[in-house]
Amino acid sequence: MKVKKIPMRKCVACGENKPKKDLLRIVNNKEEGIIVDPTGKKNGRGAYICKDISCLELAKKSNRINHALNAEINEEVYKEIADYVTNSK
Ligand SMILES: [Zn+2]
Repeated sequence: MKVKKIPMRKCVACGENKPKKDLLRIVNNKEEGIIVDPTGKKNGRGAYICKDISCLELAKKSNRINHALNAEINEEVYKEIADYVTNSK
């Protein structure tokens, strides 16, 4: 029997490796700028974060997403991430 490999990604805040589907992707897309990418399929440089408000706060406080994407993350984007994080509970 073939074991299906689960794609793992690392959370930018806590540094834990988790299955991709348990994380939220934020992508630096050429056309759209910094966007939340729940499908995980958008082009661009991506950063992953746990669907956990404490990870979001940590990432925000330490500007981890900025560093990961090499871009400025504005309040709108954080708000959007927070929406996904709180709604996924
Ligand atoms: Zn995390």
